[in-house]
Amino acid sequence: MNGKVYLVGAGPGDYGLITLKGLNTIEIADVLVYDRLINENLIYRTPKHCEKIYVGKQAANHALPQDQINELLYQKAAEGKIVVRLKGGDPYVFGRGGEEGIYLVERGIPVEVVPGITSSIAGPCYGGIPVTHRDWASSFHVFTGNFKDEIRGLNFPNLAELEGTLIFLMGFGNLDYITNGLMQAGKDKTTPVAVISKATTHQQKTAVGTLETIEQICKDEKMVPPAITLVGDVVKCREYLNFFEQQRREGVLILRDARQSDVFAKMLMQNNFEPVVCPVIQIEKRELSSELQSAFEHLKDYSWTVFTSPNGVKSFFELFLDNDGDMRMLGHMKFATIGKATAEVLKKWGFKADFIPQKQVSNALADGLCELLGSNDRILLPRSAIANNDMVDIITKRCPVDDIKIYDTRIKTENESELRSLLNTGEVKYIPFTSASTVDGFVKAIHNDLTGLENVKTVAIGPITKKRMLDLGITPDLEATDHSLEGIIKVLGGKNVD
Ligand code: SAH
Repeated sequence: MNGKVYLVGAGPGDYGLITLKGLNTIEIADVLVYDRLINENLIYRTPKHCEKIYVGKQAANHALPQDQINELLYQKAAEGKIVVRLKGGDPYVFGRGGEEGIYLVERGIPVEVVPGITSSIAGPCYGGIPVTHRDWASSFHVFTGNFKDEIRGLNFPNLAELEGTLIFLMGFGNLDYITNGLMQAGKDKTTPVAVISKATTHQQKTAVGTLETIEQICKDEKMVPPAITLVGDVVKCREYLNFFEQQRREGVLILRDARQSDVFAKMLMQNNFEPVVCPVIQIEKRELSSELQSAFEHLKDYSWTVFTSPNGVKSFFELFLDNDGDMRMLGHMKFATIGKATAEVLKKWGFKADFIPQKQVSNALADGLCELLGSNDRILLPRSAIANNDMVDIITKRCPVDDIKIYDTRIKTENESELRSLLNTGEVKYIPFTSASTVDGFVKAIHNDLTGLENVKTVAIGPITKKRMLDLGITPDLEATDHSLEGIIKVLGGKNVD
């Protein structure tokens, strides 16, 4: 049976500028084929099993030729897979979406297209420039600035006649050709021009000048592609409407598992920070072990189940329900959680935490719990395979504990170059470490070379994480007093946390 290909516009760069429909397709993709300039956060929205194939251009690594991309889409769909072809901006605006669609339809593959917000309009918008305005431009025209040859080059006499805004994509390398061409065709040399680089991303930069001056200004300001060049009087609006660059937000790096970045990312955005996702760990639920199976069979013997992380809760209940569990079997159970975030997740599974310690650290959980326990109690402690024994040592003095490893924390080392660039470009101002394993993952991913860390401020969520940071050579600049994500936001100076 044939699968299907969705040609999806990812928007111009800002994570929030994809359509809901586009996001829905990513969440059901078996295969994601994506270009450069796609926001990383979108790639992490794919399901766990999804195969992610990068076909864009990167410095040393050339793009897959178009015919091979077409064939790849065809092959994957012919295998019965749901393929999402994620493209920057809109798939039909200089995006070769049309070519890919026709190739597939000719071969009997069902195709659906989800439009995207094109950089040709959103870029100027984030640069403070409306592409039309009743006083200055009643139309806008989008060109590729990529052709220079006689047959396909721009028809400057025609362009110079237009009263509307002129927008050039792929034209950054040909800026002199465009500006000279327009001036030679009679366009006033004082016509305002804006060049917007890396539009709608955290690195957006805009240069403003005129047809005569913009090329030199771009050189002076070290502008880099990808960039949009816009010619027209509407540039004057930037003086009033430059909301994005004026309210630039400080970048905060999220290192935790990609599937768990969402909550933190939303909290950061609400507090006027820019979340930048680059995971260094991945949480993997284990298969049902004989110890866990036996615990499920003897749930009546346990009086408390203790969770030390949201992952523990999620993995526990998933394994329980996948293996014939029924929530009524937990009716007698009391629950303790290390903190509010874990209790929140527990609540989603229908249970209220009976005990949460004041201080969100494992020793406080163990000590507080001991005060509530008698020797007849028995504790079920489903948790991470890398947890240490401190808690167990404390609780065993009171009553038996079954410490069952239910998930692994895998270190991801493939993001080294991304992390290096984040450390050096100023895109990230803060790196909060939310667990000791994110410290391990980070240091491993950058091969113990901490160069560049002096450009950012590091934050420890609590004492255990702080200790691991110090052990690995990172002195935290800040430490949360409340050992939670809220605590991190507070120490960063977030506004909306009480
Ligand atoms: N389909 C895309 C355009 C693809 S052509 C869209 O609708 O936006 C690629 C060109 O788009 C780049 O050379 C650049 O001119 C422009 N572009 C895309 N994203 C951009 C961004 N975030 N900032 C500036 N220019 C961008």
